[in-house]
Amino acid sequence: MPPALHLRPCLHRLPTDFPDPNSNGRRCLQRARVPQRRSYANASSPLLSSSSLLQPSSLRSKCPFMYAVLGAGFAGLSVVWHLLKHGPKESPMRIDIYDEVGIGGGASGVSGGLLHPYSPKAKLLWRGSECWKECLELSTIAERTMDAGASNGMIQDPSCVFDETMIWRRGILRPATSEKNMEILKENAQNCLKSCNLEVLDRNAAQCLIPDLCVPFNFAVYMPLAMNIHPKRYLEALFLACHHLADEESISGSEEREINLFKEPVSSLRGLSEAYDAVIICLGAKADLLPELSGKLPLRTCRGVVAELQLPTDMGGVYGDQSPSILSDSWLAFQGPRSVFMGSTWEWRSKNYASNVSEEEASRAMEELLPKASAVYPAIKKWTFVGARAGLRAMPPLTPQGSLPLLGCVNDAIGTRGRCMYWLVGGLGSRGLLYHGLVGKLIAQAAISSDEKVLPLEFTSWKKTL
Ligand SMILES: Cc1cc2nc3c(=O)[nH]c(=O)nc-3n(C[C@H](O)[C@H](O)[C@H](O)COP(=O)(O)OP(=O)(O)OC[C@H]3O[C@@H](n4cnc5c(N)ncnc54)[C@H](O)[C@@H]3O)c2cc1C
Repeated sequence: MPPALHLRPCLHRLPTDFPDPNSNGRRCLQRARVPQRRSYANASSPLLSSSSLLQPSSLRSKCPFMYAVLGAGFAGLSVVWHLLKHGPKESPMRIDIYDEVGIGGGASGVSGGLLHPYSPKAKLLWRGSECWKECLELSTIAERTMDAGASNGMIQDPSCVFDETMIWRRGILRPATSEKNMEILKENAQNCLKSCNLEVLDRNAAQCLIPDLCVPFNFAVYMPLAMNIHPKRYLEALFLACHHLADEESISGSEEREINLFKEPVSSLRGLSEAYDAVIICLGAKADLLPELSGKLPLRTCRGVVAELQLPTDMGGVYGDQSPSILSDSWLAFQGPRSVFMGSTWEWRSKNYASNVSEEEASRAMEELLPKASAVYPAIKKWTFVGARAGLRAMPPLTPQGSLPLLGCVNDAIGTRGRCMYWLVGGLGSRGLLYHGLVGKLIAQAAISSDEKVLPLEFTSWKKTL
C-alpha cells in the first residue's frame, strides 16, 4: 500500500500557467513531474503525493496532461478509462477524480444494474448497437479485473469483496402486460441486434425459464444476453481496472500515468481551470447545483426508490439459479435464490438527493411496486421487505432520437473564453449503464483533442437552448 498522505489537493498553491515548448500550443498548466508512485484514496481521506508534484525543475519531465473528472459514477469512471485509453502516449498524464461520497455515491450506486440496448417496449435505442458494444467492453474489463482478484487492498468499499460475482444474472424476460403492449412488443422485437437478440416466447416457453411466472397474454420477449450487474462492485472493479491500465501504459514505454481519487465536494468550478487542461463534469443530478451551471441545463430530476426483499428461510419457492431477471411495469433483479431488488418508483421534480429512505417513503414505494411486480410474479408477495435505497435520475429532454444524454463543451455557460476546457456528461436518465461506455469514450476524445466536433450533433443539440 502506498503511504497515506492526508493532504487536500491545494489547487491554488499549484504553479500558474506558462507556455511550454513541448506542448504543441497547449499551455503547460502545471510544471510538475508526475509522481512515480500512485496514490489511492481510501473511504475517508483524499490522498495526494503533493511533495512529488512540486519537484525542482531539474527533475521535471515533460509537461503532464492534467484532467479533473468530477464524479465517480458510471459517467465519471467511463471517462477516466477512456482518457487513459485514448490520451497521448508521449506525454505524462494525471487524472484527478473528485467525488464527495466516493465511487458509486450517486444514482449509479443505487441503480438496478439492468443492462440491455432496448426501450421498455423492446425498441432498439438510438445508437443502441454502439452503446451495447461499448458497455460490454467495459463490463468485460471490469469482470476480468475482478476475476484476477487483484484487490491489493485498494477497494474502497469493504462490502465490495472480489470473491463475489459482479454479474448477478444473465437474461431478462419481459412479459406483455396488456394487449396493446403485446402488439408493440411484437413489432419492436422484429428489429433486434444480433449481439443482443430478442426471442419471442409463449407462456410455456416463458415458464420453462421462470416456473412461477404469470404470462397473462401468452406472450413474452426474452433477452438472453441482457445482464443484471451489481453496480457498486462493477464501479469498484472499473476503478481498479483504470489503475491497472495506467500501470501497464507506464510500464510499456508510454509516459507515466497517475490517477487520484479525492473524496471531497466540488462547490464551484472556479479555480479548476488554473490547474487542469480539461475539467469533465459528471455529477449526475447534482450538476445543476454548481453555481456556474445552476438553472442552465435542461434536466429534470426524478427520484427512484428500490426495495430489497428476501424470501424467508423457512419458505419454499426459491428463485432458480438460471432464471432471468424480470422486467415489467416494475422490475425484479434477483441476486440470489432468496434475495431480490424490486424497482423502481418515479418521483418527478424531487430534490431529495439522499440515498437513504424513510419508513414512510419505503412503505409508499412498496405499495406502488408490489402490485406491479406481483402481476407477473405472484410469488413475490411471500417475500419480505428488508430495506430500501434511492437515487436521483437526471432526466434529459425528449428528442426525435429519444431521451439522449447531454454532452458538450460548457465554456459558454460558465463564461470562459478560448479553448474548450469544461465538458459535461449529463442527463443519463434511466439508462446510464447503457450509455456510459459510449458517452465516456466520446467526451474523452473531445477533451483530449479539445474539439467538440467529434461529438455527434444529436448529443450536443441541447446546447441551442443555452
Ligand atoms: C432507482 C434507480 C434505478 C436505476 N436503474 C437503472 C438500471 O437498472 N439500468 C440503467 O442503465 N440505469 C439505471 N438507473 C439510471 C442510472 O443510475 C443513472 O443514469 C446513472 O447512474 C447516472 O450516472 P452518472 O455518473 O451520470 O451520475 P451519478 O451516478 O449520480 O454520479 C455522480 C457522482 O458525482 C458525485 N457528486 C455529485 N455532486 C458532487 C459534488 N458537488 N462534488 C463532488 N462529487 C459530487 C456523486 O457523489 C456521484 O458519485 C437507475 C437510476 C435510479 C435512480
